[in-house]
Amino acid sequence: AKQAGRGQYRFFDQSLNRKDVESFLLEQSFADGLGNREFVLHYQPQVDLETMRVTSVEALVRWQHPEFGLLYPDRFIGLAESSGFVIPLGLEVIRLACEQVGQWRKAGLEPVPVAVNVSPHQLARPEFPGQVAEILEACQVSPGMLEMEITETAMLDKQAVVHLHELSKAGIRLALDDFGTGYAGFAHLEAVPVDKLKIDRSLISTICNSHDDSPIVSSTIILAKRMALKVVAEGVETRDQVVHLKVAGCDMVQGYHLGRPMPAEDLPGFLEHFHRL
Ligand code: C2E
Ligand code: CA
Ligand code: CA
Ligand code: CA
Repeated sequence: AKQAGRGQYRFFDQSLNRKDVESFLLEQSFADGLGNREFVLHYQPQVDLETMRVTSVEALVRWQHPEFGLLYPDRFIGLAESSGFVIPLGLEVIRLACEQVGQWRKAGLEPVPVAVNVSPHQLARPEFPGQVAEILEACQVSPGMLEMEITETAMLDKQAVVHLHELSKAGIRLALDDFGTGYAGFAHLEAVPVDKLKIDRSLISTICNSHDDSPIVSSTIILAKRMALKVVAEGVETRDQVVHLKVAGCDMVQGYHLGRPMPAEDLPGFLEHFHRL
C-alpha cells in the first residue's frame, strides 16, 4: 500500500505542480469563503501633501482562509479573475467598504472616503451601476464617500466607459490606478471622467536614486494638473520621496512611509496619532 501511495504521489506530482494544486484548492473554497465572510478589507491612508492630513483610504482585500491563513490578493485575485469569482467578490468588497463607512460614522470618526479596486470585468457588467446604487442606499452612504480605482484596461471597453460616466454622474469619484505601467497614457483619459491619477510604485521607487529629477514623474504631474486631475503617488517608502514629490507638485502620497494597510479597527487610533504629529 505504501508503494502504491508513493507511486500515486509521484504521478500526481508530475501532472500538477504545487501552485496548480493550491490554485485548485483556493478556487474550490471561493464560494465558502464568501458565505463564511472570510474576505476582509485592510485600509491604507492617502495623505494630502498640503495639509498632511489623511483625506481618503484605499480598501485592500485579504482572505482569512481557514486552512491557508491570511492570504494577500496576489495569491487569489488572478484566479478570481479567470474563474469569474471576481464579480461576486467585487460586490462583497464594495459592500464591506460601505458597511465600514457606516460603522466609522457611528463611532463618531470624521468621515474619510474609501477607495475600492474594481476589476474591468465587473465594470462592464450591465447590472453593475444599479448594484452599486443599491449598496450605497442600503448602507446609507453618500456616493461621495466611495471612490473606484480602475485600470486603463477598463477604459478600452465601451460598456465599461458608459458605466464610468454613469457612476461619475452619480457622484462616485474615479481614480486611474497604476498609471505609468501600461500603454494608454494620457490619450484615453479624455474619454473617461477620471478625478485622480495614481502614479505606480515602479515609477516612484526610482525617483530618489539619481539626480536626474525623474522627468517621467514630474511631467506626469504637470500633465495631470493641466487636466485638472488630482495626483497620488503610490508606494512612497521614504521621507526623501515625500519631499521630492511635494516639490514636484504631487497632491497626495500613499505608501509604507505614511502608513501600511491596517484592519478597520486600527484606523481611528492611527488617524488620531497621525494628525497629532
Ligand atoms: P494596488 O491597487 O496597486 O494596491 C497597492 C498595493 O501596494 C497593495 O498591495 C499595498 O499593500 C501595496 N503597497 C502600499 N504601499 C506600499 C509601499 O510603500 N511599498 C510597497 N512595496 N508596497 C506598497 P496588496 O494589498 O497586496 O494588493 C495588491 C493588488 O491586488 C492591488 O494593487 C490591487 O491591484 C489588487 N487588489 C487589492 N484589493 C483588491 C480588490 O478588492 N479587488 C480587486 N479587483 N483587486 C484588488
Ligand atoms: Ca489600487
Ligand atoms: Ca495601484
Ligand atoms: Ca500597483
